[in-house]
Amino acid sequence: MSSNNKRHIVIVGGGFGGISAAKQLKKADVDVTIIDKSNHHLFQPLLYQVATAALSPGDIAAPIRTIIGESRNVRVLLGEVQQIHSEENSLSLGDGRTISYDQLVLALGAQYNYFGHDEWKEHAPGLKSISNALDTRERILLSLEEAEQIDDPKLREPYLTYVIIGGGPTGVEMAGAIAEIVKRNMMRDYSNFSKNETRIFLVEAEPKILNGYPDELSEKARVMLEEMGVRVLLNTPVTNIKKGAVQFGEGTIQTPNIIWAAGVVASPLLDSLGAEQDRTGRVKVNEDLSVPGYRNMYVIGDAAHLDDEDGHPLPALAPVAQQQGEFLGKKLAIKQASNSEQHLFRYRDKGTMATIGRAKAVADINGFKFSGLFAWLMWSVVHILQLMCFHSKTRVFLEWIWYYFTFQRGVRLITDRTTDNYNKLKEEDAKDILALIEN
Ligand SMILES: Cc1cc2nc3c(=O)[nH]c(=O)nc-3n(C[C@H](O)[C@H](O)[C@H](O)COP(=O)(O)OP(=O)(O)OC[C@H]3O[C@@H](n4cnc5c(N)ncnc54)[C@H](O)[C@@H]3O)c2cc1C
Repeated sequence: MSSNNKRHIVIVGGGFGGISAAKQLKKADVDVTIIDKSNHHLFQPLLYQVATAALSPGDIAAPIRTIIGESRNVRVLLGEVQQIHSEENSLSLGDGRTISYDQLVLALGAQYNYFGHDEWKEHAPGLKSISNALDTRERILLSLEEAEQIDDPKLREPYLTYVIIGGGPTGVEMAGAIAEIVKRNMMRDYSNFSKNETRIFLVEAEPKILNGYPDELSEKARVMLEEMGVRVLLNTPVTNIKKGAVQFGEGTIQTPNIIWAAGVVASPLLDSLGAEQDRTGRVKVNEDLSVPGYRNMYVIGDAAHLDDEDGHPLPALAPVAQQQGEFLGKKLAIKQASNSEQHLFRYRDKGTMATIGRAKAVADINGFKFSGLFAWLMWSVVHILQLMCFHSKTRVFLEWIWYYFTFQRGVRLITDRTTDNYNKLKEEDAKDILALIEN
């Protein structure tokens, strides 16, 4: 209990799940603390648009304090939870602080899974934070600048090559967006190379991209990407990644532009709970989202594994996290929630969609399948409506309209943040790549 004898609910994670839960608790007779290691909520579905210079970071992220707004019972704390002491009902943060709770909601999200090859991360960063997106943006822009300065087409080839690993929605969106910017939008800015020199590879270990979508939509997405100039390599598992090169059973692609979008794993913090986890580390929660064996602990969103009524695990998607947060917030607002059917979580699937490029998307809405412009319009409306603060909604909408009609890209700035690193990388890469070419 907090000093005023109210229940103290601690929510770790200010993402889709955590924020939705906190919003439901704003008027309840409880004290709430949201702890997040960053100060902002991030709209991850549009991260690739920051990485490809279509949107600015401020368009897709907003401070958690702003989203929660004025509230007498909700406190926001910046800090990274490093340990859960479930027997004492407390948490420790990275800076040594201890926070006690009566009820704990873990909405920790997920992180990229390098399948036991964490050394690949350095050469093939994922797209999970604003910082990742800005690094990717700088790498793309620096690579084009580099290619502009190399006269030998063979030597500039690596700098005009992009490899995206993982054919899920993020990989597909990223490949489509890179194809648009490097084959179209930015071409007019450079004179030393032609768009035919740029090569974009989307690499997938499975026999289809957009696994989980109906075969018909996966195939349509593949065809659309190929038409945009993306080479989709199916059944192609990566065997090694090193500086400036991706290796497969059949050969190697040389490039400093490698982006990892292949699979996620849950936060290692969950391992300490001793609860049953699936193979990606998600905690197998009860139907009311509580952790088996604990009376006051809940896991939601990407960190939770819950099967739907057909026995399939719910996907790691924003609407799942949002609905779970909303459900749990309502449940915790009531002092004694029962375990009756109405207090068990049921996911309302409103459909899935993925965008591929300008006026190109695929959508599966309750079994109705759409592709092309109509699917893209649906995708655009849904994503703009989901942006949390109104300020961003209007601006993003206007920016998209502008890009659509002008083929322009927005934020094409190279700042100092990665230039030094890239230059170091560049010199070593050039040797690596040359050595590989010569071999
Ligand atoms: C590039 C990308 C594209 C995506 N595209 C789509 C899409 O098109 N459609 C869709 O529905 N879904 C998409 N997703 C998935 C969607 O973003 C997630 O399903 C959703 O964010 C899950 O919400 P969550 O609340 O579980 O976790 P998150 O939203 O990831 O939030 C987790 C929060 O916990 C915080 N945190 C983690 N560990 C700690 C700690 N130890 N201490 C303190 N704070 C911590 C993090 O900082 C973060 O703010 C995409 C994801 C990515 C990465």
